[in-house]
Amino acid sequence: MKKLVSVFLFMSVFFTMFATVGQAAEVIPKLYLNGQLLKSEVNPQIINSSTVVPVRTITEGLGYQIAWNNSTKTATLNHGNDVIILKLNDNKAMVNDQPVQMDTPAAIVKGTTLVPLRFVGEQFGLTVDYKAAVKEVHMYEQSTLPTEPTEPSAPAGLISQVNYNGDSSMTINYEGTVKASKPMLLENPKRVVFDFPNTAYTTLLNGQVEITVTDSTYLQKIRYSLFSSSPATARLVIEISENTGFVLTEDAGQFLLSFMSLSDVPKDSTDTPIVVVPETPSSSKDVYTVVIDAGHGGTDPGAKSITGKWEKEFNLSIALKMKALLEKESKIKVHLTRTGDTYPTLDDRVSFAENLKADLFMSIHANSGASSASGAETYYYRDNSKALATVIHKRLLAATGIKDRGVKKEAFKVIKQTTMPAVLIEAGFLSNTSDAKMLFSDASQNRIAAELVAGIKEYLNVK
Ligand SMILES: [Zn+2]
Repeated sequence: MKKLVSVFLFMSVFFTMFATVGQAAEVIPKLYLNGQLLKSEVNPQIINSSTVVPVRTITEGLGYQIAWNNSTKTATLNHGNDVIILKLNDNKAMVNDQPVQMDTPAAIVKGTTLVPLRFVGEQFGLTVDYKAAVKEVHMYEQSTLPTEPTEPSAPAGLISQVNYNGDSSMTINYEGTVKASKPMLLENPKRVVFDFPNTAYTTLLNGQVEITVTDSTYLQKIRYSLFSSSPATARLVIEISENTGFVLTEDAGQFLLSFMSLSDVPKDSTDTPIVVVPETPSSSKDVYTVVIDAGHGGTDPGAKSITGKWEKEFNLSIALKMKALLEKESKIKVHLTRTGDTYPTLDDRVSFAENLKADLFMSIHANSGASSASGAETYYYRDNSKALATVIHKRLLAATGIKDRGVKKEAFKVIKQTTMPAVLIEAGFLSNTSDAKMLFSDASQNRIAAELVAGIKEYLNVK
């Protein structure tokens, strides 16, 4: 009798859970495998902010065999040498005898096993692309990846020339539509920063350009670079002398910047389209607050490495090395969510960064999966984090030298519930012999920490 009660209780909890999910009126994502729409009795759904998908629908398309054992409540998936065991209501899956943590437990709805999409992508070597705007999940086997990746939309304008005209003026020539944002006046060194949203440079001007001015009363240095590539933002920084003011005049395809003594700037000139007098300090910062989050810790060890070590050790080691490097930066103040073997909850980590009003958040993790799975990936969730993810991922690939698994969008709590640009990196697979060896080598860890710090500085435009 007791047993029966517990079974009923279990069932009711289960249905309550899904009833809630249904009422949330989330638009149900459609699933595509290699470009084909997958049909299933049960739709993908969102549980605990993870997208869960019917595993059978996907594995059948990939040639896996699936067997359900009703007495142990386990589903066993077989393909070649790979064996994946999923247990109902358990968020630990066994992949080739190695435990792998899932964001949310395996569930059964109408006889169909649902598992997190992220797990499916990683364990079956699929590239997962969630097109949030149309609620479509596209999964590709590596061999069938579309050859043309989706290009970010082209910038509206291109800066073709930045010229210093001697002593007191500069011209900026452009093609297309270019608008200058309100300039920021920053100190140490005293400088004016112009951002041109939705604007890039013509190829000739790519890279970071720096011009040292020696013959001007007003200007010290001019530098410009692409501040962010997606969306494209061109940035122009002009270091100026004390008591320097300027007038920005716009003409067809050209901005003219005239520098003069502050007292000579016309106070309310009607014949100049834009007059800016940099007198009030801008809200822009001279010191950025950066939070580094070593994933897991304490009672939560994360993934087990094939070397016998735990993910929490790797994550902390990288975070501490980054801290040491970031402490040398005068324009960055670094904070760690943990500095030892402790477990702050995910909520703790989010409020830690929010309370500090951090400018940037980075969570360090390493992956686990089938022994053949390898590579690095960078996650973001909110749109304000995509540019950071792109920069960090480039650096992560440079440091690790392993397979590029891409920049991905996923609703991990620490990058979803924070509000500043936030990313989560999976530096490589601890379940893969060669990735794990690399990740636990001191030389690689120093390189990873150095590249991630370089990425943070690049993103914040800190020299
Ligand atoms: Zn982790």
